[in-house]
Amino acid sequence: MNKLTIIVPCYNEEEALPVFYQEIKKVLNEMPQVEPELLFIDDGSRDNTLRVLRTLKACDRQCRYIAFSRNFGKEAAMYAGLESATGDYCVIMDADLQHPPALLPEMYRAVHEEGFDCCAGFRKNRKGEGALRSLLSKAFYKVIQKLSHMQMEDGAGDFRMMSRKMVESILALKEYNRYMKGIFSFVGFDTKWIPFENVERAAGTTKWSFKSLFGYALNGIFSFSTTPITIAGAVGLVLFVLSMVYGVGTGISTLIFGNKVSGYTTIVCLILFLNGIQLLVISVLGEYISKSYMESKGRPIYIVKETG
Ligand code: UDP
Ligand code: MG
Repeated sequence: MNKLTIIVPCYNEEEALPVFYQEIKKVLNEMPQVEPELLFIDDGSRDNTLRVLRTLKACDRQCRYIAFSRNFGKEAAMYAGLESATGDYCVIMDADLQHPPALLPEMYRAVHEEGFDCCAGFRKNRKGEGALRSLLSKAFYKVIQKLSHMQMEDGAGDFRMMSRKMVESILALKEYNRYMKGIFSFVGFDTKWIPFENVERAAGTTKWSFKSLFGYALNGIFSFSTTPITIAGAVGLVLFVLSMVYGVGTGISTLIFGNKVSGYTTIVCLILFLNGIQLLVISVLGEYISKSYMESKGRPIYIVKETG
């Protein structure tokens, strides 16, 4: 019998977990052909999540948990889950039921019978999400696709079932700055897409503020693309050519019409403009240097406090 590990990152999910557990059990009961393992990762929750997980573990042999010493983020939680999973197949799911468990049988069929290495849920719409947030997210995916030349679509999240082969290749990427959407795309493999409707979370609240989403987006870009450096070079080149043209033009006009002292506004604008661009480019370089600084420290991706 094949083993299926269900990896559930949880951060302050005490309200959602009982509902999630009930739903997932219902679906697993309809899948007698697999031996399930429910692997919860408590990502340093400040509420009673860990207590709920201890209870689940005590009542159900199929449940296991790993508790982090503090909040390391969902990326770290997913990595820890994949690392400790023992299943022949692994699926990553949110605890808030935004990833419908009802899709599991179809996903399992895809990876077990249809020969796919990965079967991913694809969110069809962004119902229940603010208009500005949707717009910014869509813009972000356009930008990152262009910059990284990788397939990272809006709607393609972390909800996916993977074969052992794919899990091992993801684990081989040990980088500290993790961006799972990019990693999925980087490792490749044949993926089947299953669309699903966006629903409101079952209980609790989202852990993503506008600011954290923005930081996440930037991390994605800088982790998977060096195009910003190329763009900086191109901007420099364009400015160089423009300055040559302007210089020659001014030289000729001085020869013909003489030297009138003017151009105060032009000089002020140019100084501000060029300094602005220089600072921007330095900050782009700084992003890469700081990323590489963090990588060079070789810090662990997560620290475990307790397992059960
Ligand atoms: N999560 C986590 N660590 C964090 C933030 C979130 O493990 O630092 C988990 C959270 O418990 C949930 C999943 O990641 O199971 C998705 O989080 P959320 O529902 O808040 O994100 P959204 O669905 O709003 O994108
Ligand atoms: Mg959610």
